[in-house]
Amino acid sequence: MGKNNKNTTEKVILKHDHFQTLIDLLKEREYRIVGPTLGEGAIVYDDLNTVDDLPIGWTDDQDGGVYRLKKRNDRAFFGYTVGPHSWKKFLFPSQLRLWKARRDENGFHIENDKNEIRKFAFIGVRSCDLHAISVQDTVFMHGIYSEPNYKARREHTFILAVNCGMAGGTCFCASMSTGPEATSGFDLALTEILQEKGEHYFVVETGTELGAEILLNVPHREAKKEEIHAAETIIKNTSQSMGRTMETKDIKDLLYRNYEHPRWDDVAKRCLTCANCTMVCPTCFCTTVEDVTDLTGEHAERWRKWDSCFTMDFSFIHGGSIRASAKSRYRQWMTHKLATWIDQFGTSGCVGCGRCITWCPVAIDITEETREIRKSEQTHSPNNSIKEGNNNENA
Ligand code: SF4
Ligand code: SF4
Repeated sequence: MGKNNKNTTEKVILKHDHFQTLIDLLKEREYRIVGPTLGEGAIVYDDLNTVDDLPIGWTDDQDGGVYRLKKRNDRAFFGYTVGPHSWKKFLFPSQLRLWKARRDENGFHIENDKNEIRKFAFIGVRSCDLHAISVQDTVFMHGIYSEPNYKARREHTFILAVNCGMAGGTCFCASMSTGPEATSGFDLALTEILQEKGEHYFVVETGTELGAEILLNVPHREAKKEEIHAAETIIKNTSQSMGRTMETKDIKDLLYRNYEHPRWDDVAKRCLTCANCTMVCPTCFCTTVEDVTDLTGEHAERWRKWDSCFTMDFSFIHGGSIRASAKSRYRQWMTHKLATWIDQFGTSGCVGCGRCITWCPVAIDITEETREIRKSEQTHSPNNSIKEGNNNENA
């Protein structure tokens, strides 16, 4: 991403038929363009060659354990929310060879694997995912050690964000203070506007000098007051139509106080420990390493692969697994996301994207699990009143 320059330029209008010019300009600069596209029965992130690769005219219906594609009655480019993929699949691939080794008459030689990394242009990044990328930046780049593969990808990534024009049934970014408006972490941000009389355009905000430079070469004009107002109204309406909410006040201490809450037994009866929630989560980052050799014993490779705290092996040390029960694994995951992550990285590990709710085969809902624990405290302690509101201590 380029140098931050947010709000130094006026908002402008980009007509929908000039969107291809933007893609072409990024291609000329040798970006690998990736964005939403139809595939695997969902809206997934993949390579985009032309604007027609976007899921134009499609939307999604989401609820706990439910995801359905549906046709819209217009030709919106971005008329859906987030699907099962997140941008981490590009910045932090699910499988990555770390090195390979060769044995010859002089011994065993480790060769550093020089993964050729093309710079990415991400098209259509939602606000929750901008926050998720920022969370993973903290994990991989801002600690004592930095992860070189992530850093190499991340430092050259161009981000075109999209403000959400609708909220999904499992979205709760508004209560996590992570959306639906993109406020930082992008080069350009768009709000899509489709009018009944057929007009179709984007209100564009510039976030960096690089974004401004790209925009300079795409036909555009200054936005009128009413067009900016229309974009603001769309974001406001989205914010007010979230499918879920999460009360975040005191959430860290709430979970720390309730390690032994009976709700963990309840959720353990439902949880299949399938790990779907961790695979779809845009902030989860656990990995394992596997060494493989060929049959000659002359070549060996070390691979890093996504792993999950829901597997028995993940916490296996000599003699057994530390978290042997489904209860301990679900509690570990949810408490890490919403509480220990704050101590570890200074931010919540949850950005309210709702993916773990949609893609859980038994519809376990992180907002509901938290609410039930909070509710029981309120029931048992009349003085412990919780005020309503968006008091996200982690924002
Ligand atoms: S919460 Fe749902 S998605 Fe996560 S491991 Fe349990 S069953 Fe699988
Ligand atoms: S925990 Fe669930 S809602 Fe929160 S960021 Fe991960 S997938 Fe999204």
